[in-house]
Amino acid sequence: MRTLGMLGGMAWPSTAEAYRAINEGVAARLGGHHSASLLIASLDFAEVAALQTAGDWKAAGELLADTAVRLEAAGADGLMLCTNTMHRVAEAIEDAVNVPLLHIADATAERIRADGVTSVGLLGTRFTMEQDFYRRRLEAAGLEVLVPPTAERELVHRTIYDELVAGQVREDSRARFLAVIDGLAGLGAEGIIAGCTEIELLVGPGHVALPYYATTALHAEAAVAWMLEA
Ligand code: GLU
Repeated sequence: MRTLGMLGGMAWPSTAEAYRAINEGVAARLGGHHSASLLIASLDFAEVAALQTAGDWKAAGELLADTAVRLEAAGADGLMLCTNTMHRVAEAIEDAVNVPLLHIADATAERIRADGVTSVGLLGTRFTMEQDFYRRRLEAAGLEVLVPPTAERELVHRTIYDELVAGQVREDSRARFLAVIDGLAGLGAEGIIAGCTEIELLVGPGHVALPYYATTALHAEAAVAWMLEA
């Protein structure tokens, strides 16, 4: 089995889910007492969030590239960045190491395309919904990407930073997210991407009538497939 280095803590509740999902995936495939060969570097999210707010993506890229280098030196055969937003600096990470970075948007796009869905609604942080690093990757895979209107984007962003990154799951927030999802369906979305790794803690596939693409789960599945490929 290949060893995977996880860049986590962005934020910790979804890293914990990814850790669980990857171990469960390896155990399901190999049986017995098997579990995943992992290295985890879990950052202080306050430091990352401060760089996001300052728009200092260069420093954020350096921070994550340094972390990636340490994971590679510790024996990681490949890397997984346990956040959608910080794929904003994926290139800085890739440039710093000699091992592959399993991109969360690729894992997501692959499943969407396999389902025959072409138009998707994207929920995530303001950075993920409004900047082009993430949607460009999806569009390059042949998908049409829809985002909610400004007020709803702000609501989704604030809920992520005020509640979900601290592991808080509130019924009223779930109802508001489901209304945003209904709006995206009204705009023509055939599927919905939970494009922030914490969103699936709040809204799961069972809450949504449309095909629902939970990025932590899809990324973990892709990671297991890659680890067991060799
Ligand atoms: N985990 C979130 C994401 O997937 C947001 C936290 C972050 O900014 O990294 O985008």
